[in-house]
Amino acid sequence: MEYPGNLYVVAAPSGTGKSSLVKALMELDSHITPSVSHTTRAPRGQEVDGREYHFVDNATFDRMVAEGAFLEWAHVHNNRYGTSRAGIEAMIGQGKDVVLEIDYQGAIQIKQLFANAVLIFILPPSWQELRSRLQRRAEDSADTIELRLRNAAEEVAQVQAFDFVIINDSFDRALFDLKAIAHAQRLKFAAQKRARAETFRALNIL
Ligand code: ADP
Ligand code: 5GP
Repeated sequence: MEYPGNLYVVAAPSGTGKSSLVKALMELDSHITPSVSHTTRAPRGQEVDGREYHFVDNATFDRMVAEGAFLEWAHVHNNRYGTSRAGIEAMIGQGKDVVLEIDYQGAIQIKQLFANAVLIFILPPSWQELRSRLQRRAEDSADTIELRLRNAAEEVAQVQAFDFVIINDSFDRALFDLKAIAHAQRLKFAAQKRARAETFRALNIL
C-alpha cells in the first residue's frame, strides 16, 4: 500500500531506552505523532491512561481483537498489547509521520501490512547495562525484571529482520542516530517531490 506519511516502528528489549529516545525525538520533531497502544497490563509509575497507553481489561481487549480493531497485537511479558487501526491509516494517508513503539512480533506484522514501514531496533550496550537500567527505572518488581531480561535474549535475536540498528550506549549519540534515520526518510525522492513540488516544477522534473 502506498501512503505519503512515514511509519516508523521502534522495538527494543524493555529497559533499553526506547521510550526515552522516542520521547526526545518527538520533542525535537513536531511532525512525528506517537501511536498510543492498548494494553492489558496495569499502569506503572506516572503513566496516564490515554497518554502512554489505553489501559483496558481482558474482556475489552478480546472484543477489540474480535472486531478487527487492531492492525497488529501480541503477547509480551505475560500481557497483551495492540496497535489500534483507527487513526493510523488515516494519519499516514494524510502524509503525517507516525511512530509505533512495539515489540518485534508486532513490528514484523506491520512490515507485512506496510512494506514501506521503517523498522528500527534499539540494542542495549550490554546485558549488564540493561539489567542496571531496569533496576534504576525502579518501576517493575524483581520478578518482572527477571522475566523481561529472560525475554530480551529472544528479542535481540530478531534484530536481523529490521532495517536499522541503533546501540543506545550514549543517549545523545543514539538520539542523533534516530534523528538521522528520520531525516534520511524525508530526503527520499517521493518525499522531496512532495515537499519541494515548486522546485521540482521549476526544474521541469515531472
Ligand atoms: P524502554 O522504553 O526501552 O523500556 P526507558 O526509556 O524506560 O526504556 O529507559 C529505561 C531506563 O534507562 C530509564 O530509567 C532511562 O532514563 C534510562 N536510559 C535510557 N537511555 C539511557 C542511556 N543511553 N544511558 C543511561 N540510561 C539510559
Ligand atoms: P512496557 O510494558 O514496558 O510498556 O512494554 C512492553 C513491551 O510491549 C515493549 O516491547 C513494547 O514495545 C511492547 N508494546 C507496546 N505496545 C505494543 C503494541 O501495540 N503492540 C505490540 N506488539 N507490542 C507493544
